[in-house]
Amino acid sequence: MSVELADIRGLSRPELEEALTRLGEKPSHAAAVFLAVHRLRGCDLASLPGVPERVRAALSRAFSLAPLPAPERRQVSRDGTKKLLLRFPGDAPAECVVLPAKDRLAACLSSQSGCACGCTFCATGALGLKRSLTSPEIIAQFEACLAEAAGRLNSLVFMGMGEPFLNWENVRRAILTLSDSRGRHFPQAKMTVSTVGVVPVIEELTASDLRVRLAVSVVAADEEQRARMVPMERTYPLRRVLEAVRAYCRAKEALVMFEYILFRGVNDRPSDSALLAGLVKDIPCRVNLIPYNPPGGPGGEFPRVKQFQRELIAAGVRTYLRQERGADIAAACGQLASRPPAQPQGPGRE
Ligand code: SF4
Repeated sequence: MSVELADIRGLSRPELEEALTRLGEKPSHAAAVFLAVHRLRGCDLASLPGVPERVRAALSRAFSLAPLPAPERRQVSRDGTKKLLLRFPGDAPAECVVLPAKDRLAACLSSQSGCACGCTFCATGALGLKRSLTSPEIIAQFEACLAEAAGRLNSLVFMGMGEPFLNWENVRRAILTLSDSRGRHFPQAKMTVSTVGVVPVIEELTASDLRVRLAVSVVAADEEQRARMVPMERTYPLRRVLEAVRAYCRAKEALVMFEYILFRGVNDRPSDSALLAGLVKDIPCRVNLIPYNPPGGPGGEFPRVKQFQRELIAAGVRTYLRQERGADIAAACGQLASRPPAQPQGPGRE
């Protein structure tokens, strides 16, 4: 019976050192192996450049190294946003996006194929969860975006399909691999992980050595309204999330980014901006306002957006109005569905 070998891309460098020791080789070879696999994009363990033959042979017996998948579909928006669809084993599609902003390029990666969280406004949530992605599958998205960006990515956000903190082990591994000095050496400070508020993992991040930035999707400041739109509110209420965020900011001496999707006539009232400001004004933060983009809809701003921003600024909250990107190819916030989406219901005011 043949045993499926583990993909070597899934090992962090310390894990690779341990694996080499178990194979009877010197752990110091891990640096060359890591470089050959992750930076030089070797795709055959038997011929990794710069790695001694004996080590290559030992690794070939213990691990696999599958070629990185090519994007199955590539869409380019009028504004230059590029969306790539990668399909992983088990018919698990995942989309990643390259976002241009002035002279900078950001990549947005998916952590899961689909999502189990069921946020009512989100096309990914309407799909349900297919499965969590492995760290090599997350790295494959990074490589596809890097190639699309001609090797020039300035920042990385985990805001694509899925809730990164419900697949934290694989996301953490991908972060460690991509930031490793023998990997892509991508600075952790240029990576942002976004969550709807999985409190135990925010606490784990706070206690860790990672230097990635944290973003939290607020969606609604009113708890009852938030529970209707973000089912996770029932497990981890926003007040508890904000306590964990305060501890994160203190421990890391860092700002947090709050994402607030503005739904016309739902959470854009003056009372909403006042409630939001009251919740976050003692937290070192920036609030990103994102006008809601219904899948297939026209997108764009509506009259209350700028006024909502002014109300937050007047209340002393640093606020940024995010430019909509890629709406015409369903690449904007909450639109990733890897196929023409079953239209989600969207929120309604009760
Ligand atoms: S908003 Fe994020 S957490 Fe909620 S369903 Fe969509 S992908 Fe999942």
